[in-house]
Amino acid sequence: MEKADILSMEQEELIEFIREIGEANFRGKQIFNWLHNKKVCSFDDMTNLSVKLREILKEKAGIYGVKTVKKYKSSEDNTIKYLFQIENGYIIESVLMKYEYGYTVCVSTQAGCRMGCSFCASTIGGLERNLTAGEILSQIYEIERQEGVRVGHVVMMGCGEPLDNFENCIKFISIISHKEGAGISRRNITLSTCGLVGKIYELAEYKLPITLAVSLHAPNDEIRRRFMPVANKYKYEDVIKAASDYAEITKRRVTFEYSLIDGVNDSRENAEELALRLRGILAHVNLIPVNSVKERNYNRSSDKSVRAFSRILMERGIENAVRRRLGADINAACGQLRKTVMENKKKNIEH
Ligand code: SAH
Repeated sequence: MEKADILSMEQEELIEFIREIGEANFRGKQIFNWLHNKKVCSFDDMTNLSVKLREILKEKAGIYGVKTVKKYKSSEDNTIKYLFQIENGYIIESVLMKYEYGYTVCVSTQAGCRMGCSFCASTIGGLERNLTAGEILSQIYEIERQEGVRVGHVVMMGCGEPLDNFENCIKFISIISHKEGAGISRRNITLSTCGLVGKIYELAEYKLPITLAVSLHAPNDEIRRRFMPVANKYKYEDVIKAASDYAEITKRRVTFEYSLIDGVNDSRENAEELALRLRGILAHVNLIPVNSVKERNYNRSSDKSVRAFSRILMERGIENAVRRRLGADINAACGQLRKTVMENKKKNIEH
């Protein structure tokens, strides 16, 4: 990105940038509207700007979005998975899901990830790089352009750890929810983290009415450490406390993600311990039978265990839901496709 990354600029930044070029403030607002409301991807489409200004913009700025490499449509439901390429060739994934209440996009926030959760395919090659705010935004815009739909909900649950790319994710949330841009309500945005305690508190300071999801996946540190290296850094109690403080500060219910792995974290005792740990917190638990990743030896829990787990939580007053599995036939989860494609790309280069 040798030119100014205009897609990642908040409206005030864009106005400042335009002022430096010698143009009036309202031009900055117009350009912001073109990029984030009309969602064009070239300066030539900005037809209410003079040709001269468009030329200057082309010289000084770039619209660095994502490019579609491939897309997979599920035959079981309306889920579509996209493989996008970013500058310098890395591949990321996004997913479009249709629910009763409208369209949701699951965005990636990093190419790769350095958190190392052993059931997750996104982290196998480590962190490649952080995505810019513009690259996160353009996953949504690109999908909207291709499908002719309007996206109303966003989950930051694709490749990467959002709180490990903190500033760009905050910028992304600010721009996507701007009334003169895409105007997606902050209440319809979920940020999912593996539990970086300090960053959860930092996020709480912004008092954004977004939903925080914390990937817990275990009832205690002993089990959590088996598959989440981050548990060696932050104590279980501290993660729960941060989530609970977050709920207090923002008055928003926190979600705990719990992937059920056969024989690892899905027993009755595990459910009972989890219920004790979460007692009294403004929270909701999402139970997700783990998706097996071919490099890993984890199996999903049986339907019977999932139901039993859910019932135990319910009986103890812990609200929970078993998450519907969308796009199972297209590997719509967790960096699986991206990895295969990156590997094939590598093979092609090597041969
Ligand atoms: N890094 C963030 C967000 C990305 S992962 C986080 O950890 O929350 C989004 C969710 O998918 C997380 O809850 C993650 O633990 C979960 N996940 C990753 N691989 C999975 C798998 N194979 N099966 C089920 N859930 C998985």
